[in-house]
Amino acid sequence: MSVEDVVRMVDDPLGLPFEEFCERAVRLREEYGLKPEDIPAWECPVQKWALWHGAPCRRTVERTEMCPVCGNYICPDCKNHAVEVISRITGYLQAVSGWNAGKQQELKDRHRYSGDALL
Ligand SMILES: [Zn+2]
Ligand SMILES: [Zn+2]
Repeated sequence: MSVEDVVRMVDDPLGLPFEEFCERAVRLREEYGLKPEDIPAWECPVQKWALWHGAPCRRTVERTEMCPVCGNYICPDCKNHAVEVISRITGYLQAVSGWNAGKQQELKDRHRYSGDALL
């Protein structure tokens, strides 16, 4: 079973309330033995649910929720996975969505391999 199967299986009940939809998606994910990190943000059923319900709200949020299905940060209002938050620590705008996970890992790797100075 693949991510695509899970996504397809939860395609139908997009009209469900968010909590019910999540429960169903999490159950399916577990049935197929998938971990949250196996599901990319852009393929997450919850993201599909969010888009179906009119996301993104395009607000910059100060706090995020964690998606119960894929574990990525989501907007607490519209459940969109491509969120940007104001970091309380730095005051700067930071994109924390799963869309940027690859980029962040790339940065980490670059630091790791480029010598002690950047560690
Ligand atoms: Zn998700
Ligand atoms: Zn939102």
